[in-house]
Amino acid sequence: MFLGCLCVDETRRVTRSKPAPGACGACNGGCSKVRVRRVHRVCFIPVWCSWNREVICTRCRAHLHEY
Ligand SMILES: [Zn+2]
Repeated sequence: MFLGCLCVDETRRVTRSKPAPGACGACNGGCSKVRVRRVHRVCFIPVWCSWNREVICTRCRAHLHEY
C-alpha cells in the first residue's frame, strides 16, 4: 500500500530590490520594490517557480502590496 508522503514547501528569494516612494503604515519605515522568486517544491523536488513583484517595508518587512 502506497502511503503518500507529500511535503510541499515554498522557498522565497528576493532577487532584486529598489527604493519605492511611500511609507509603511505599521512602522512608518521606507518601502522598496522587490522581485520575489518562489520555488514550490514537493518532496524536495522543485516543481514550479513563479515570480512576484511586491512592495515591502525595509524596516519591519511587512508586505504592503503586490503590483
Ligand atoms: Zn514597516
